[in-house]
Amino acid sequence: MSGLKQRDKTYIANTYSRFDVEIVSGKGSVVYDANGKRYIDMGSGIGVTCFGIADDVWVKAVTEQLDKVQHTSNLYYTEPCVELAELLCNASGMKKVFFGNSGAEANECAIKVARKYAAEKKGRDCFNIITLENSFHGRTVTTLAATGQDVFHKDFQPLTQGFLHSPANDLDAMKKLVAENKIAAIMIECVQGEGGVNPLIPEFVKGIYDLAQAQDILLIVDEVQTGNGRTGEMYAYQNYGITPDIVSTAKGLGGGLPLGATLLGEKTEFVLGYGDHGSTYGGNPIACAGAVSVIGRMNKEFLDSVKAKSKLVFETLADSKGIESVSGMGLMIGIKTEKPAKEIVIKCIERGVLCLTAKDKVRLLPALNIDEATLTEALEIIKSVCAE
Ligand SMILES: *Cc1c(COP(=O)(O)O)cnc(C)c1O
Repeated sequence: MSGLKQRDKTYIANTYSRFDVEIVSGKGSVVYDANGKRYIDMGSGIGVTCFGIADDVWVKAVTEQLDKVQHTSNLYYTEPCVELAELLCNASGMKKVFFGNSGAEANECAIKVARKYAAEKKGRDCFNIITLENSFHGRTVTTLAATGQDVFHKDFQPLTQGFLHSPANDLDAMKKLVAENKIAAIMIECVQGEGGVNPLIPEFVKGIYDLAQAQDILLIVDEVQTGNGRTGEMYAYQNYGITPDIVSTAKGLGGGLPLGATLLGEKTEFVLGYGDHGSTYGGNPIACAGAVSVIGRMNKEFLDSVKAKSKLVFETLADSKGIESVSGMGLMIGIKTEKPAKEIVIKCIERGVLCLTAKDKVRLLPALNIDEATLTEALEIIKSVCAE
């Protein structure tokens, strides 16, 4: 490990501050480090391995495809990406899918679609997109501009023009921005993930939806973190009873391989034409075969089990010593602890539980199929660390 750590420091760009753990293997919600120490994985690679590590069904789907063809480019037809697109449209009610490889790319596509739609319907000067303060939409120069957190912006100016930020849960502020500017789209996360696991209040989401509908402003929902069963519905907007015009998703979608998707609704399905957008890897057959194997299992019974486990998490952590509050939805949980979140996470690692942080909170994004015994074991360790 110390050799690896040194080589990492020598050869890997200094963008990450890694915890002192080398993960070498795992199964389901349990992973092992280079010394054979066991950890319960409550982060699933930031909400990516939604069926856990080395899930049998996912491994089979991926390896079977691997033996057939690993990549073709988008010059030819392949079955897995079409099958996945069909599954996603059926699960979301959206009409068409564009595949990329990450959350940022899914948002880039959403932004391009919104700009083209508005330019065609309202003129080229209607390009602004409103996002929320404290949001997170990615790390490219454009999705950074969309991200409503100045800390990410400071060294990378000038960013892409045309993004305005409005405070979350303040409908009047949003209405004022809409009245004073030419707006192509409003983009939200229903639960702000990186921003601290804060669900938007239903009246605000419904208010934005009505406002956008009335003025033919597109509503983009960033479901990169909240999507694919994470909140107990297939997509988080389904908890709010709204229909977006564009949905972006990634993270859990591929179950562990890089995959992003932009879902286009009735208003937007024909906006992009031949040559307007593309991706060499997008819709890669291996990533899509894996995704079909996870998305295909997310039926009502499965989503209900996510909701039941969510209830267990909230009940177990309620009124615990050292825990000020618990926020979130489904298996996307933010814990406001009395001690600094980073300190709790480091102590949890010592005790064999891997957690994440989001702003000043401890964040949990366990695999959606984590069994209740393992979940409870992890929660008890987190509780005792918070109480120390
Ligand atoms: C993680 C995340 C992104 C960026 O995804 P990448 O795959 O890292 O590009 C965008 N939006 C939200 C809401 C996210 O949580």
